[in-house]
Amino acid sequence: MEFVKPQSTVKAPEDWFTGDVWFDVIHAGQEPSRMRANMVRFSPGARTAWHHHAVGQTLHVVEGVALIGTRDGTVFEARPGETVTCPPGEEHWHGATADRFMQHLALWEGPGDDRPETTWLEKVSDEQYNGHRTRNH
Ligand code: MN
Repeated sequence: MEFVKPQSTVKAPEDWFTGDVWFDVIHAGQEPSRMRANMVRFSPGARTAWHHHAVGQTLHVVEGVALIGTRDGTVFEARPGETVTCPPGEEHWHGATADRFMQHLALWEGPGDDRPETTWLEKVSDEQYNGHRTRNH
């Protein structure tokens, strides 16, 4: 075994995120592993753009309240210790509430073929961000 070499924190690109988002790559597996694990920190009001993942994604909330929106307009609230999965190809966004920081662990896999791991779409509007929230699950 070996310790994974630590990498510098990365600023999430402005094309794909609204507001300040930073992430640490915890692990990016080398073939045959397709493991991906990032710790992501969102400032208040920050969120991803709309996107989907070829093999889906699992989000585990560490701090704050995570908002996860889907195309039917629902915005799910997830709290620390809770885990949300996004199935392959489902368009969604994730972000912080307007009033506090949010941190989640993002877990996903490379697709094992030529498809992109993540396909990025348009940014999330304020109207979408402020959509009806639910705790139902
Ligand atoms: Mn995602």
